[in-house]
Amino acid sequence: MNSTQRVLAVELPAPCPLACGFCRTPNHGQGDTDKLYAAIENHLLREDWAELYLTSNGETGLSPLFAKTVELARSRGIATAVLCATEKSIEPGIIRAEISVNEFTTRLAERAIAKAKKLGIPMVVSTVDTADTNPDAEELAKRYGADAVLIRALQQEGRSYRTCGTTRVWQRAGSQLGAFPVAAYAELRSLVSDISRLICIGPHGNQVPLLGGAS
Ligand code: SF4
Repeated sequence: MNSTQRVLAVELPAPCPLACGFCRTPNHGQGDTDKLYAAIENHLLREDWAELYLTSNGETGLSPLFAKTVELARSRGIATAVLCATEKSIEPGIIRAEISVNEFTTRLAERAIAKAKKLGIPMVVSTVDTADTNPDAEELAKRYGADAVLIRALQQEGRSYRTCGTTRVWQRAGSQLGAFPVAAYAELRSLVSDISRLICIGPHGNQVPLLGGAS
Protein backbone atom coordinates (compact mmCIF):
# COMPACT_ATOMS: atom_id res chain seq x y z
CA MET A 1 0.00 0.00 0.00
CA ASN A 2 1.30 3.43 -0.95
CA SER A 3 1.70 5.36 2.31
CA THR A 4 0.14 8.51 0.83
CA GLN A 5 -3.15 6.73 0.11
CA ARG A 6 -5.92 6.57 2.69
CA VAL A 7 -7.70 3.23 2.48
CA LEU A 8 -10.92 2.14 4.18
CA ALA A 9 -10.95 -1.68 4.39
CA VAL A 10 -14.32 -3.22 5.25
CA GLU A 11 -15.30 -6.80 5.99
CA LEU A 12 -18.93 -7.22 4.96
CA PRO A 13 -21.17 -9.95 6.40
CA ALA A 14 -21.88 -12.33 3.52
CA PRO A 15 -22.92 -15.91 2.82
CA CYS A 16 -20.59 -18.11 0.81
CA PRO A 17 -21.39 -20.94 -1.63
CA LEU A 18 -17.96 -22.49 -1.05
CA ALA A 19 -16.37 -24.42 1.81
CA CYS A 20 -12.61 -24.01 1.57
CA GLY A 21 -10.76 -26.39 3.87
CA PHE A 22 -8.71 -23.60 5.48
CA CYS A 23 -11.37 -20.84 5.47
CA ARG A 24 -10.48 -18.19 8.04
CA THR A 25 -14.12 -17.03 8.39
CA PRO A 26 -16.24 -20.21 8.25
CA ASN A 27 -19.10 -18.58 10.20
CA HIS A 28 -20.24 -16.74 7.10
CA GLY A 29 -22.71 -13.89 7.30
CA GLN A 30 -22.14 -12.95 10.92
CA GLY A 31 -22.24 -9.24 11.68
CA ASP A 32 -24.47 -6.24 12.24
CA THR A 33 -25.52 -4.90 8.85
CA ASP A 34 -27.24 -1.77 10.20
CA LYS A 35 -24.35 -0.73 12.42
CA LEU A 36 -21.79 -1.58 9.74
CA TYR A 37 -23.52 0.40 7.01
CA ALA A 38 -23.87 3.37 9.34
CA ALA A 39 -20.11 3.18 9.97
CA ILE A 40 -19.40 2.93 6.23
CA GLU A 41 -21.59 5.95 5.52
CA ASN A 42 -19.97 7.89 8.33
CA HIS A 43 -16.48 7.27 6.98
CA LEU A 44 -17.24 7.63 3.26
CA LEU A 45 -19.34 10.78 3.61
CA ARG A 46 -17.13 12.63 6.10
CA GLU A 47 -13.57 11.76 5.06
CA ASP A 48 -11.39 11.57 1.95
CA TRP A 49 -10.31 8.14 0.79
CA ALA A 50 -8.17 6.98 -2.09
CA GLU A 51 -9.74 3.54 -1.98
CA LEU A 52 -12.50 1.48 -0.45
CA TYR A 53 -11.30 -2.12 -0.11
CA LEU A 54 -14.27 -4.47 0.21
CA THR A 55 -13.80 -7.92 1.68
CA SER A 56 -16.22 -10.17 3.54
CA ASN A 57 -16.62 -13.17 5.81
CA GLY A 58 -18.17 -15.02 2.85
CA GLU A 59 -18.51 -14.09 -0.83
CA THR A 60 -18.31 -10.29 -1.00
CA GLY A 61 -20.78 -9.79 -3.84
CA LEU A 62 -23.44 -11.79 -1.99
CA SER A 63 -23.48 -9.42 0.98
CA PRO A 64 -26.75 -7.50 1.37
CA LEU A 65 -24.55 -4.38 1.73
CA PHE A 66 -22.39 -4.92 -1.33
CA ALA A 67 -24.31 -3.15 -4.09
CA LYS A 68 -25.27 -0.09 -2.04
CA THR A 69 -21.77 0.27 -0.62
CA VAL A 70 -20.24 0.16 -4.11
CA GLU A 71 -22.82 2.72 -5.26
CA LEU A 72 -22.14 5.00 -2.28
CA ALA A 73 -18.41 4.94 -2.99
CA ARG A 74 -19.06 5.59 -6.68
CA SER A 75 -21.26 8.59 -5.85
CA ARG A 76 -18.40 10.00 -3.77
CA GLY A 77 -15.80 9.37 -6.50
CA ILE A 78 -13.98 6.83 -4.33
CA ALA A 79 -12.33 3.89 -6.10
CA THR A 80 -13.49 0.45 -4.96
CA ALA A 81 -11.43 -2.74 -4.95
CA VAL A 82 -12.89 -6.14 -4.07
CA LEU A 83 -11.54 -9.35 -2.57
CA CYS A 84 -13.70 -12.27 -3.70
CA ALA A 85 -13.94 -15.73 -5.23
CA THR A 86 -16.87 -15.58 -7.65
CA GLU A 87 -18.22 -13.45 -10.48
CA LYS A 88 -21.00 -12.14 -8.19
CA SER A 89 -18.46 -9.63 -6.87
CA ILE A 90 -17.12 -8.43 -10.22
CA GLU A 91 -18.88 -5.11 -10.82
CA PRO A 92 -18.18 -2.80 -13.77
CA GLY A 93 -16.15 0.15 -12.55
CA ILE A 94 -14.27 -1.48 -9.70
CA ILE A 95 -10.57 -0.70 -9.94
CA ARG A 96 -9.17 -4.05 -8.85
CA ALA A 97 -10.48 -7.57 -8.33
CA GLU A 98 -8.48 -9.78 -6.01
CA ILE A 99 -9.76 -13.27 -6.75
CA SER A 100 -9.12 -16.15 -4.35
CA VAL A 101 -7.90 -19.18 -6.25
CA ASN A 102 -7.32 -22.49 -4.49
CA GLU A 103 -8.30 -26.14 -4.91
CA PHE A 104 -11.79 -25.42 -3.50
CA THR A 105 -12.60 -22.29 -5.53
CA THR A 106 -11.07 -22.98 -8.94
CA ARG A 107 -14.24 -23.46 -10.99
CA LEU A 108 -16.03 -20.34 -9.73
CA ALA A 109 -12.82 -18.31 -9.50
CA GLU A 110 -12.04 -18.98 -13.16
CA ARG A 111 -15.44 -17.58 -14.09
CA ALA A 112 -14.73 -14.51 -11.97
CA ILE A 113 -11.36 -14.09 -13.68
CA ALA A 114 -13.00 -14.35 -17.10
CA LYS A 115 -15.57 -11.69 -16.13
CA ALA A 116 -12.89 -9.34 -14.77
CA LYS A 117 -10.93 -9.67 -18.00
CA LYS A 118 -14.01 -9.09 -20.13
CA LEU A 119 -14.74 -5.90 -18.18
CA GLY A 120 -11.09 -4.77 -18.32
CA ILE A 121 -10.75 -4.78 -14.52
CA PRO A 122 -7.17 -5.19 -13.24
CA MET A 123 -6.98 -8.61 -11.62
CA VAL A 124 -4.94 -10.10 -8.80
CA VAL A 125 -4.83 -13.82 -8.11
CA SER A 126 -4.85 -14.33 -4.34
CA THR A 127 -3.85 -17.72 -3.01
CA VAL A 128 -2.64 -19.39 0.16
CA ASP A 129 0.72 -20.97 0.83
CA THR A 130 0.00 -23.97 3.03
CA ALA A 131 3.68 -24.99 2.87
CA ASP A 132 2.51 -28.19 1.14
CA THR A 133 1.37 -26.20 -1.89
CA ASN A 134 4.24 -23.66 -2.14
CA PRO A 135 2.65 -21.77 -5.08
CA ASP A 136 4.79 -20.27 -7.85
CA ALA A 137 3.64 -16.65 -8.31
CA GLU A 138 4.97 -16.13 -11.82
CA GLU A 139 3.51 -19.43 -13.01
CA LEU A 140 0.09 -18.46 -11.59
CA ALA A 141 0.31 -15.01 -13.20
CA LYS A 142 1.05 -16.60 -16.55
CA ARG A 143 -1.67 -19.25 -16.21
CA TYR A 144 -4.42 -16.76 -15.36
CA GLY A 145 -3.14 -13.64 -17.15
CA ALA A 146 -3.06 -11.81 -13.81
CA ASP A 147 -1.67 -8.33 -13.20
CA ALA A 148 -0.39 -9.52 -9.84
CA VAL A 149 -0.29 -12.56 -7.62
CA LEU A 150 -0.61 -12.38 -3.85
CA ILE A 151 0.53 -15.46 -1.98
CA ARG A 152 -0.59 -15.45 1.63
CA ALA A 153 0.96 -17.38 4.48
CA LEU A 154 -1.72 -19.60 6.04
CA GLN A 155 -2.97 -18.19 9.35
CA GLN A 156 -4.26 -20.09 12.36
CA GLU A 157 -7.78 -18.71 12.04
CA GLY A 158 -11.19 -20.29 11.43
CA ARG A 159 -10.77 -23.80 10.00
CA SER A 160 -6.99 -23.56 9.86
CA TYR A 161 -5.19 -25.07 12.84
CA ARG A 162 -1.73 -23.79 11.91
CA THR A 163 0.26 -20.83 10.66
CA CYS A 164 2.75 -21.65 7.93
CA GLY A 165 4.06 -20.66 4.52
CA THR A 166 5.45 -17.35 3.29
CA THR A 167 3.62 -14.22 2.17
CA ARG A 168 4.90 -12.71 -1.07
CA VAL A 169 3.75 -10.59 -4.01
CA TRP A 170 4.50 -10.65 -7.72
CA GLN A 171 3.30 -7.65 -9.76
CA ARG A 172 3.49 -7.09 -13.50
CA ALA A 173 5.60 -4.03 -14.33
CA GLY A 174 3.40 -1.05 -15.21
CA SER A 175 0.18 -2.55 -13.85
CA GLN A 176 -2.24 -0.10 -12.22
CA LEU A 177 -3.52 -1.68 -9.02
CA GLY A 178 -4.49 1.23 -6.78
CA ALA A 179 -3.52 0.69 -3.15
CA PHE A 180 -2.56 -2.98 -3.62
CA PRO A 181 -1.49 -4.70 -1.43
CA VAL A 182 -3.77 -3.54 1.39
CA ALA A 183 -2.35 -4.64 4.75
CA ALA A 184 -5.73 -5.41 6.30
CA TYR A 185 -4.83 -9.01 7.16
CA ALA A 186 -2.20 -10.26 9.58
CA GLU A 187 -0.07 -12.00 6.95
CA LEU A 188 0.16 -8.82 4.84
CA ARG A 189 1.51 -6.51 7.52
CA SER A 190 5.09 -7.41 6.64
CA LEU A 191 4.58 -6.11 3.08
CA VAL A 192 3.70 -2.55 4.09
CA SER A 193 5.86 -0.34 6.28
CA ASP A 194 3.33 2.42 7.04
CA ILE A 195 -0.24 1.45 7.95
CA SER A 196 -1.16 4.78 9.51
CA ARG A 197 -3.49 5.60 6.60
CA LEU A 198 -5.39 2.31 6.74
CA ILE A 199 -8.64 1.98 8.69
CA CYS A 200 -10.27 -1.47 9.07
CA ILE A 201 -13.95 -1.93 9.88
CA GLY A 202 -15.13 -5.40 10.90
CA PRO A 203 -18.51 -7.02 10.13
CA HIS A 204 -20.00 -5.81 13.42
CA GLY A 205 -19.36 -2.19 12.46
CA ASN A 206 -16.43 -1.60 14.80
CA GLN A 207 -12.99 -0.31 13.93
CA VAL A 208 -10.59 -3.25 14.29
CA PRO A 209 -6.82 -3.68 13.92
CA LEU A 210 -7.13 -6.53 11.39
CA LEU A 211 -9.76 -8.22 9.25
CA GLY A 212 -10.38 -11.96 8.94
CA GLY A 213 -10.68 -14.39 11.82
CA ALA A 214 -9.00 -11.79 14.02
CA SER A 215 -11.71 -9.15 13.47
S1 SF4 B 1 -12.15 -18.96 2.04
FE1 SF4 B 1 -13.48 -17.41 1.11
S2 SF4 B 1 -14.40 -18.50 -0.65
FE2 SF4 B 1 -13.55 -20.08 0.71
S3 SF4 B 1 -15.27 -20.71 2.07
FE3 SF4 B 1 -14.13 -19.07 3.12
S4 SF4 B 1 -15.18 -17.17 2.58
FE4 SF4 B 1 -15.82 -18.74 1.09
